[in-house]
Amino acid sequence: MSTIHNIESNADPAELARFNQLASRWWDENSEFKPLHRINPHRLEWIDSLVQLADKQVLDVGCGGGILAEAMARKGAKVTGIDLADKPLQIAQWHAQAQDVDVHYAKSSAEAWAEARTGERVEGLAEGRAEKHAGHYDVITCMEMLEHVPSPAAVIQACAEMVKPGGWVFFSTINRNPLSYALAIVAIEYIMRILPRGTHQYARFIKPTELLAMANASGLELRDKHGLGYNPLTQRFRLHGFMGVGYLLAMQKPLLA
Ligand code: SAH
Repeated sequence: MSTIHNIESNADPAELARFNQLASRWWDENSEFKPLHRINPHRLEWIDSLVQLADKQVLDVGCGGGILAEAMARKGAKVTGIDLADKPLQIAQWHAQAQDVDVHYAKSSAEAWAEARTGERVEGLAEGRAEKHAGHYDVITCMEMLEHVPSPAAVIQACAEMVKPGGWVFFSTINRNPLSYALAIVAIEYIMRILPRGTHQYARFIKPTELLAMANASGLELRDKHGLGYNPLTQRFRLHGFMGVGYLLAMQKPLLA
């Protein structure tokens, strides 16, 4: 089995086109991005409670229009957001500037970013020294993104490489079972039409055991987990114990490997 990932091919052009097409509405809280806006305060507080975001070096993988990236920067974190879709990145940049929030955005996959040299924003580096992003971040977030890529294991591996020993990686995605199919696709896309049809592909949903196995194989250890609950009557999300549909995992890279 080859261990070399073709880093350019681990993105689905149809997925990126879909996010490009919707990008102008990213910050409209009543648009297709309503769920991300509604989830955001909950995931932000959860992350902050575990890592205390202020002054942390944070990478947000698949940042889209920057809903989480910007919120983490407002907590005092030094945030870089990466994504492969141009328009969400433009919107993210424009929004952060308009709000006067300092977030650095770049067009990259996680795998390519792990190989890229760090920029001049990195303090304490001798000039001209080639440094990659390996072991560079205190916190990495990769939310609602893994279910849109062909090989989530390669993204997870890159995240594990880029986090410092003792640092944290946060993942969220959608479980794969008949209930998640009924709720995340049939109800959300076809009945309630909160998301456009085709937003999610069932085959790309990931069971928590699978995500955990991939993260463990990359050297990350589980520290916390939650299910994501949605009440269609109040249209509110909350974190709870049931992980049958949406869920979040907090992983940590051990200090001593
Ligand atoms: N993480 C954000 C946005 C989720 S939407 C949030 O939770 O608020 C999913 C994002 O993943 C989109 O912006 C899409 O362009 C991006 N994406 C999809 N495939 C990607 C890939 N291979 N590499 C980087 N970003 C990708």
